[in-house]
Amino acid sequence: MSRRAEILAEMGIAPIWKLRATPGVEETPSPPAPPSNEWIPLKAAVSGCTKCGLHKTRTQTVFGVGDESADWMLIGEAPGAEEDRLGDPFVGQAGKLLDNMLAAIGLSRRKNVYIANVLKCRPPGNRNPTPEEVAQCSPHLLKQIELIRPKLIVAMGRFAAQTLLESDSSIASLRGRVHRYAGVPLIVTYHPAYLLRTLEDKAKAWQDLVFARKVMSGAAAP
Ligand code: URA
Repeated sequence: MSRRAEILAEMGIAPIWKLRATPGVEETPSPPAPPSNEWIPLKAAVSGCTKCGLHKTRTQTVFGVGDESADWMLIGEAPGAEEDRLGDPFVGQAGKLLDNMLAAIGLSRRKNVYIANVLKCRPPGNRNPTPEEVAQCSPHLLKQIELIRPKLIVAMGRFAAQTLLESDSSIASLRGRVHRYAGVPLIVTYHPAYLLRTLEDKAKAWQDLVFARKVMSGAAAP
């Protein structure tokens, strides 16, 4: 079995679809990000942030990971226990699934992808973020988006989607179409942690990624 077929089988996705080569999709690593002196104060603001109570219980902040000039920006909810321990987003079980899903469409967190969360600190016990925490923390995320200037945002789960779209609609109702955040095309999909608990929705998440890839290649209208 090929590596891709193994990944899709692990995700519980069958039959195995073959992605056609998409003209215009850049498969080679992007050139390094232009130096931006705005990253340094932003990183310092995040690592020293005490705007909400989560700073009291965090081990460390989790800023984001990947290519700072990426075309793809994936946004999750908040660090979990492993992320709080290691300082990078999506390094636990949900992160393994995310990496596998990215690999299935030829992407990796090291190449042309940036991954961040709405919250930079772990909510204790992995509880949901409160509206106040989102309000205090999301300006950091919005600044990251402004600096990266991605070509496509993938909002994973309710907190990312609802925060960026200023909506209270469900993921199910937001999937399958192209939204915009500050002019950047944005698509909505399920959160990988939800997919670990809800196997029957993995195929829908796969459809979302294929759709995202089409939007990125210009084959689906943004
Ligand atoms: N879930 C998230 O939303 N983000 C992480 O970094 C890890 C799990």
